[in-house]
Amino acid sequence: MGYGTLACPSCDAPVSPGPGPRSPSDALACPVCDHAGRIRDFLSMAAPVRPARVEVRLVAGPRWAVRR
Ligand SMILES: [Zn+2]
Repeated sequence: MGYGTLACPSCDAPVSPGPGPRSPSDALACPVCDHAGRIRDFLSMAAPVRPARVEVRLVAGPRWAVRR
């Protein structure tokens, strides 16, 4: 699908999704301000892609994955 940026929607800190593919519905928490949400809340596909860059790809089935 392309590349996006994982950043906290509250404080805009870059957030790592951790190793391996993740689903947009997986829980994620900001290490800076403790904002908790789902990966899709943290993901932005807007350009320009910033340092917390992730690859967004479609995987088999209706799900899609977010990976570093
Ligand atoms: Zn935050």
